[in-house]
Amino acid sequence: RKLPQKKPTKTTKTTQTLQSKMTYFQTKKYIKEALLPVCGEYASYEAEKIVCHIFGIDKRTLTLISHEEAPDKTEEIENTVARRKNGEPLAYILGNTDFFGLNFLVSPACLTPRADTEVIVERALEFLGEKYADVLDICTGSGCIALAIAANAHANVRALDISEDALDIAKKNAERLSLSHKVTFESCNALSEEFASECEKYDLIVSNPPYIPTKDIADLSEEVHREPLCALDGGEDGLIFYKRFIEILPAKLKLGGRIIFEIGYDQENALRALCEKKGLFYEFFRDYGGNVRGVVINAD
Ligand code: GLN
Repeated sequence: RKLPQKKPTKTTKTTQTLQSKMTYFQTKKYIKEALLPVCGEYASYEAEKIVCHIFGIDKRTLTLISHEEAPDKTEEIENTVARRKNGEPLAYILGNTDFFGLNFLVSPACLTPRADTEVIVERALEFLGEKYADVLDICTGSGCIALAIAANAHANVRALDISEDALDIAKKNAERLSLSHKVTFESCNALSEEFASECEKYDLIVSNPPYIPTKDIADLSEEVHREPLCALDGGEDGLIFYKRFIEILPAKLKLGGRIIFEIGYDQENALRALCEKKGLFYEFFRDYGGNVRGVVINAD
């Protein structure tokens, strides 16, 4: 009796080139390997996002059809990989990103929402609880903070930005999320006298202003360099917005109101000094990366 022949063990070949007949799984693997040098530990996550984007499917469908042959999208895949390897942020390539469980349109006109910023929304919601509240968001950009608050609180939000192009994106986001009735967007220079002299008062004022010192901008990563300078540059010491806001915002708070700022990881001492000089109460909090990321301020 012949012994059954041992089956040759399958070797998984590393994908070197992109071929026209490939499964979704192989395509994802190809993209992941191509992105490894630029994205490191995020290469797999980004490859999955790119595959879903290019083939117009969601993550769940990708898992289900992973071993089926994918349509030939060689050119689109190569273009996308080249753009990403060239330092373009994934969110700009995809045209959207997730923040606080919501999907936001983004463009190079606005800063891409950061996971680190989600703690600002958490603190805001913690403070607002079930109350009906008037909220002001200054330097709204894509509208991510304003809209995440509006989606989760009984809030009437007014959101400001100096950039008309960013406001266009923010308004589209409000429509897409069916939140236009809760948030109004306005063009406004928050450093202007006109803004300072407004009399409206709010229960909560939030802001993630530009806070990078001008001299540090050159050292930021290639990706951040693709983002709008006006969303990053906080002047010579990075504090131009906080200095102004700490002067003018306490007068815009209703009794018991709060101000919440996102701040840079090394700005705690500077913010503490500014609050103490004005006799304001403050509490710093960290993001999930462990960095001090924000401050809650109150005047009474
Ligand atoms: N956190 C952003 C960054 O490090 C900066 C955001 C800001 O200036 N508000 O790129």
